[in-house]
Amino acid sequence: MNKGLKITSRSPVFNKTDMGDYVLIIGKNATDIFKYYNVEEMHGLNRADAQAEEVDMTTPKKGDQGNGVYLYGLTNYDPKDKKLTAKDPYKPFLFLNMGTLKRYNEYEQNTAVMHETMHMSILLNNWNIKDKEEEAITYAEDEANKIIKKLKSSKLIK
Ligand SMILES: [Zn+2]
Repeated sequence: MNKGLKITSRSPVFNKTDMGDYVLIIGKNATDIFKYYNVEEMHGLNRADAQAEEVDMTTPKKGDQGNGVYLYGLTNYDPKDKKLTAKDPYKPFLFLNMGTLKRYNEYEQNTAVMHETMHMSILLNNWNIKDKEEEAITYAEDEANKIIKKLKSSKLIK
């Protein structure tokens, strides 16, 4: 199962897998990525907003409605990577929020994962994919396949 993927659990809330060029962080809700890096804010997003996204819109109560935007994933630099090296020890992260992803159907889950791997592919190429469009997309496809396989074998998706 998942040959070559090392799973190191840092807390029961999320799990982390070193994918080589980046780390895959799987959480149960949108705030887990903030908990993982122990920050209140990163890349213009803050933990409070992510928390608001987690409020259940199906049973709205006065004053505490969420914004209804459910963050299913996030891909970016390690918040400690101030020089934006995207290299060890500050590999960029690809975060998946299973709380939202589990509400998607199978093909929505697959395209959502590829959405994030496309972000990662572009980030790893420092936003310069002008002469390597095919390679960049193929990389995203390969990584999406690895991640989907891992989610399935871990029974996180069907
Ligand atoms: Zn996006």
